[in-house]
Amino acid sequence: MGEFNGDIWFVGAEMAPLVKAGGLGDVMGSLPKVLLKAGINVRVVIPYYKNIIPKNLITIKEAYPAGKVNFGEIPFEFGIKTGFAEGEIPIVLIEQNHFFNREDVYGPHSGACGYKDNLWRYAMLAHGAAYAMKILGIPLVVHTHDWSGGLVPAVIRQTFGNKKVQIETEGVLKAKLSRHINAKGLRPAVVFTVHNLGYQGVYGIDDFYDIGIDFKYNSSSAYEHFGTLNSLKGGIKLSDAVTTVSPAYANEITTPGFGFGLDGELKNLRNEGRLKGILNGIDLDYWNPKADKFISRNLNLKEERYRLKDYEDWKDFKLANKKALFSEISLPPKKDKNGRPFPLVGIVSRLTEEKGIDEFLDSLFKWNDFPFQVVILGSGKDYIEKKAAYLAELYRDRIYAQTGRYDEALSHKIYAAADIFAMPSKFEPCGLSQMIAMRYGCVILAGDTGGLHDTVSDITDRHAKEPSGVLIKHIDANAVSWGLNELYNIYINEGEKWRNIVINSANKHFGWDDSAKVYENLYYDVLKKN
Ligand code: ADP
Repeated sequence: MGEFNGDIWFVGAEMAPLVKAGGLGDVMGSLPKVLLKAGINVRVVIPYYKNIIPKNLITIKEAYPAGKVNFGEIPFEFGIKTGFAEGEIPIVLIEQNHFFNREDVYGPHSGACGYKDNLWRYAMLAHGAAYAMKILGIPLVVHTHDWSGGLVPAVIRQTFGNKKVQIETEGVLKAKLSRHINAKGLRPAVVFTVHNLGYQGVYGIDDFYDIGIDFKYNSSSAYEHFGTLNSLKGGIKLSDAVTTVSPAYANEITTPGFGFGLDGELKNLRNEGRLKGILNGIDLDYWNPKADKFISRNLNLKEERYRLKDYEDWKDFKLANKKALFSEISLPPKKDKNGRPFPLVGIVSRLTEEKGIDEFLDSLFKWNDFPFQVVILGSGKDYIEKKAAYLAELYRDRIYAQTGRYDEALSHKIYAAADIFAMPSKFEPCGLSQMIAMRYGCVILAGDTGGLHDTVSDITDRHAKEPSGVLIKHIDANAVSWGLNELYNIYINEGEKWRNIVINSANKHFGWDDSAKVYENLYYDVLKKN
């Protein structure tokens, strides 16, 4: 079999801006860019979702002979195409129209109703990726993600063998020499990132025999979990290093409350030093209030670090974008009886239980007559979508809800216009929306969990440095209402404090530079160890 080519290959289900259902897409789109800039050869392997990926975002350079995999008795052919995303990131597209040429990524309503054959679809991704490695050269490290990438380490082992490539040279990832490392009988190292433990890809154990994976992996040391097939568990067990997307979440998932049945496995992994929490970053060029193409007014400041005196520019920025948003969605701006505008609360979220949006909606009823305007963009669970739409109908002067669809442009406009960004998650592995919202000068209302805990500093904590919002320990309607009340009081009665919080928020820069370095070191580490 071929030679190692010194690459790092990302294998996953999404890649922004080509195809995105949530934070995984952002990470698959932005981390490779930063690694490429640092001189590392990165390729990203994703399914060729022909219906979804905008044609202008990809250039296809080459197509390769079809590969074949048997799912049970049924043979499936697939194609491999290579090219570039946005002209710069090398990509490999796995082409299989039956599985990937659909309306949605995981299923309707942001995957709230997942396609029944998602296990087979992502088994196809794993087989396609391994086949592409055979053709294009074997990467040194495969970095795969979430349950949809969970089958990748098994397919890699059965294709290339159990023994991992081992290299001592620091900096080898950047060296062209590495293109000549002999690969005989060795497999790439595999790094597995858990973006959300709540989605594990659990199927009937019989399905195991229909996805082209060696029977020996139907064992509790791989995919079998209490009589089911658990893709995420196997991904964790068969990879050389496991990461998750924030330090706080790395701790939380080793406890029963957040471990979704895998806390025991994850605790062992942590004790062995194989579980690491690495905070995600956002693409600071894309999410840039000074140059954002989707919003009607950019921020007129040159500084990277803002001071209190810059608040007036931030205020102008917010006012102009609020005005444009209100007129676009026909929401009349509302003022209280003293002539002060209602604060605007923004929400951009998947509408699932974990995000706490249901509780947010209920919290509004805790007020006699709530003094906020609220703009909600989200899709997901039918009952939460319906509730948001119902409230928007009930309070036409205060609530606007766009549900059931993904709208990139509107999301930017909400970040730019909102005074408060609400993200009352019950658990949140990392969360990108709060980072984006802070960059756009929003004050945050969030659950005190995972990446929210690591990125938002809490105004109610006397020791917090540069507070940027309020963190709520146990999310329910009462607690959210309490948090809203805290923020409202500051907004109305403590102008100076509010201005400081806005500036603190805008000063939190969550780029990729630090975390990309940590990943780079991890790639060296997994190559060194056996
Ligand atoms: P998760 O990955 O759990 O969905 P994150 O906060 O990590 O949550 O990432 C959410 C990303 O998806 C953000 O970039 C957010 O702006 C975006 N997003 C969520 N829902 C929508 C929507 N309906 N339309 C546009 N963007 C959305």
